[in-house]
Amino acid sequence: MLRSTFIQQLVLTALGMSYTNTLKKINQRLPTAGNKMPVLFVGHGSPMNAIEDNEFSQRWAKMGQEIPQPTTVVCISAHWLTKGTYITAMEQPTTIHDFGGFPKDLFDVQYPAPGHPELANEVTQLSTTNKIQLDHEWGLDHGTWSVLKQMYPKANIPVLQLSIDYNRPAAYHFALAKELASLRNKGVLLIGSGNMVHNLSMVAWNKINEPEYGFDWAHEINTLFKQHISSRNFNPLLNYESLGAAAKLAIPTPDHYYPMIYSLGLIDSKDDISFFNDKAVGGSLTMTSFKAA
Ligand code: ZN
Repeated sequence: MLRSTFIQQLVLTALGMSYTNTLKKINQRLPTAGNKMPVLFVGHGSPMNAIEDNEFSQRWAKMGQEIPQPTTVVCISAHWLTKGTYITAMEQPTTIHDFGGFPKDLFDVQYPAPGHPELANEVTQLSTTNKIQLDHEWGLDHGTWSVLKQMYPKANIPVLQLSIDYNRPAAYHFALAKELASLRNKGVLLIGSGNMVHNLSMVAWNKINEPEYGFDWAHEINTLFKQHISSRNFNPLLNYESLGAAAKLAIPTPDHYYPMIYSLGLIDSKDDISFFNDKAVGGSLTMTSFKAA
């Protein structure tokens, strides 16, 4: 045993801690080759979650501590809709404040995580059926940085964004996600960032701060989504237009729903799926999120 290891063990023993258990805990946080990273779908909700200390942001921060430290994050945000699919390829993505009417504190937020041009190049090679193109114009929008600011406040992990080819159907996004799944074995954390239930025109603004306030249809469809996800019955979720009236209200436009489709496409048969932040907000939104690991 090395002298330094011996001393470390003495100290830990003195502190009443098991050396091997401590080492195990440290090692669990490090991604190793063949050690798959989890996949997340995160309901991001209000941009204010980036700077507020609330139950949702606290869960994000805890998630950042719980899962292995990624080498890079690739985020599919509801707020980058394009014709064709793009991956950010700049050395230093800018922080985009793509919203209006929020306090100055939110506009002051910077998330200076580096990019990873080499990985962006690699991503363009992964899809054989679709052309993923390099982007040098976008950056990190709030769908990405509001969550990552809480998960990884030091902004020291490289971040890429993948855009959503908005005219394509859910099945297209699901298939494209499958082609990206091998990134999970390279220490890459893939995050879909949107909201399963997202109808801004119906938000009950007078009840926005009332805990767990959701319309009946929002609870109903949120429960159905979770049932299909848990039982890996993804087809109805890809054909969401045929899920009835509640689904139509939950997904008036698919911008916040498609990021979830990417997360679903990245799940494999060995993953366990668990939900978090499973709450309604303002009647017509849900923050329901999942981890597959
Ligand atoms: Zn959003």
